[in-house]
Amino acid sequence: MNAASANPAMLPASVPRHSAAALLPTPAPGLYIHVPFCARVCPYCDFAVQTGGPRKRQTYVQTLLGEIRWWGGGESGWRAAEPFDTLYLGGGTPSSLTADALEQILTAVRQALPMAVEVSITLEANPEEVDDASLAAWRSLGVSRLSLGVQSFDAAVLETLGRSHTPEQATEAVERSTAAGFEAVSLDLIFAVPGKARAMWESSLQRAVELRPHHISCYEFTVHQGTRFFRARQRGHFAEVADDDKAELFFFSHRFLADAGYPAYEVSNFARHPEFRSPHNAKYWSHAPYLGLGPSAHSFDGMHERWWNERRLIDWQNAVGEAGSGVSEAETLTAEQRVLEVLALGLRTTAGVDLEHIVGRYGVDLMPANADLIERLAKRGVIEGGTGARLVPTLDGMAIADTLAGAFEIPTVADEVPAGASGIDAARRGAVLGRDRP
Ligand code: SF4
Repeated sequence: MNAASANPAMLPASVPRHSAAALLPTPAPGLYIHVPFCARVCPYCDFAVQTGGPRKRQTYVQTLLGEIRWWGGGESGWRAAEPFDTLYLGGGTPSSLTADALEQILTAVRQALPMAVEVSITLEANPEEVDDASLAAWRSLGVSRLSLGVQSFDAAVLETLGRSHTPEQATEAVERSTAAGFEAVSLDLIFAVPGKARAMWESSLQRAVELRPHHISCYEFTVHQGTRFFRARQRGHFAEVADDDKAELFFFSHRFLADAGYPAYEVSNFARHPEFRSPHNAKYWSHAPYLGLGPSAHSFDGMHERWWNERRLIDWQNAVGEAGSGVSEAETLTAEQRVLEVLALGLRTTAGVDLEHIVGRYGVDLMPANADLIERLAKRGVIEGGTGARLVPTLDGMAIADTLAGAFEIPTVADEVPAGASGIDAARRGAVLGRDRP
């Protein structure tokens, strides 16, 4: 903890002063639950996942229920000003949990944690687990959004990716899901998969828009360290699509989807209508608070504290058994880091970044030191011109959001966040984050 954060009176005179209320994170927090099981581990996947039989899953669910209750521990648990208004069950493959297990988790969440009356609940599902019975069960549990891991409608691409579903299963899953009455059905797709990348991608995008889901996410194929593809590439058995071709596919996707009625609202996300945008992912992009439960899940208090859980299932289980929560490590963000993150995240979205909001929330005025830079970026065509105190990226700008954010000069300020503003009880946080590692 930064000692200066405890007392606004310690701020230098040049820093704008705010009431504690103005500094409190105003957006409602989101809740993320990581389900670490998959039928098999895909060769490109670097998430915290594993296969696991019924006993492992049962132990996981019981441990998760304990972690949920721990964070709901009254005065010493999660104490954000607002209740959670989104819940995202991600993984892994949450759809591979039984309806009974999902019900136990959702019941524990509703009993232990402050939940808004209207909560958007998203469930990630793989096409091979979608049938009428599972859809009805998820609907009756209150799931409002379904995120389908389609990845491609091309059999060769699915085979390369090591997926266990076929294009026909993917099509049927989308059709059944969109007919089942969810508020939104989203498809995840991956582009730039080695092979005849352009032709296969075009036909997958075409198939996706024909099925008229509410929302589409497109992610670039990436080889992560520690994956089977990484090792294959090291042995020379695997060649990625060239960077120029990846960029060409990226711009093609945005044009294609916009023409088909799916304009982008974030660099990887496209919606048929604003009401179908992901409310949970918007928490991450707007630097809102979120609590992550389950192995490897990350949390953020909305201001200056970030922490994350043990990644390995067994380590997380031991941590929860020992301390009640699976927290592994934490970091305190400086004012500069916070503003840099807000810039990098906001410049990934079509909404962009509101510089006046940064002044109000973080006490940092970027304008004086960056007026020339902003003008140059507008001339280069990476941000829109004439948008006043809002930086709105063009598509070229969204594609290089991190680089753009890094170009800004961020004035140094004292850490002005008052103690407790984050919504996490300070003593409890100290006890968790300072606990002895097993
Ligand atoms: S199904 Fe998804 S989470 Fe599971 S291994 Fe494959 S890519 Fe990873």
